[in-house]
Amino acid sequence: MVLPTTIAVDGPAGSGKSSISFALAQRLGYLFVDTGAFYRAITLLALEQSISLDDPLRLTALAENADLDLSGPLLDDGRQYTILAGQRDITPLLSSTEVEACVSVISAVAGVRQALLDLQRSIGARGRVIMAGRDIGTVVLPDADLKLYLDASLDQRASRRYQQRLTSGQAANLDEIRAGLNNRDTIDSGRDVAPLLRAPDAIYLDTSDLSLDEAVDAAYRIVCDWNGAHDAV
Ligand code: C5P
Repeated sequence: MVLPTTIAVDGPAGSGKSSISFALAQRLGYLFVDTGAFYRAITLLALEQSISLDDPLRLTALAENADLDLSGPLLDDGRQYTILAGQRDITPLLSSTEVEACVSVISAVAGVRQALLDLQRSIGARGRVIMAGRDIGTVVLPDADLKLYLDASLDQRASRRYQQRLTSGQAANLDEIRAGLNNRDTIDSGRDVAPLLRAPDAIYLDTSDLSLDEAVDAAYRIVCDWNGAHDAV
């Protein structure tokens, strides 16, 4: 069976991109690349260095010099990947509420996106990769073999994020989470540079009524069907 070697997965926050892509990558033996982690990493570093969110030049310089790298999990603490900034493992710090509150503002800075583009493309060029984000099928890997666009209702996405936080022992407020997701979606979809968009050739998968296992199975079937589409050409 011929499989797609680059799979682009886009969709709004909480649509299941990371969980589904991670499980799919494990099933296929592919590397899972969560590009949101790069934007979260720049956000974390900006907060640590007290760089203003209104200072695109300093934010861009930060992204250009951040020396980020992504690899498989490396540690068995439930993580899906490891992000290094230089030699420092910053993975556990990327899901904080402070980072989530600021990441969409920082990811809308054109210079920050440009600085992260080469890194994402060079990882994509390794092949056997599932890359998840907002602009993967449209900007980062427009020639990806297979593109998926995952979606789910806002209520469903908020409820999943709420459960994730509770499960990982974090404090959680459902209304705040829903408002935070909605705010990020609005900024991510409305920005000038590389907004969240469904690529015209992306396959749409609504996961609202699917369990994680069902959604992974549905995505896996799409991957396997790609073989048929590919053979038919
Ligand atoms: O996917 P995740 O929720 O971790 O992404 C965090 C934020 O990073 C998004 O809300 C978005 O602002 C930004 N992002 C982006 N482009 C990507 C991936 C993430 O702008 N390809």
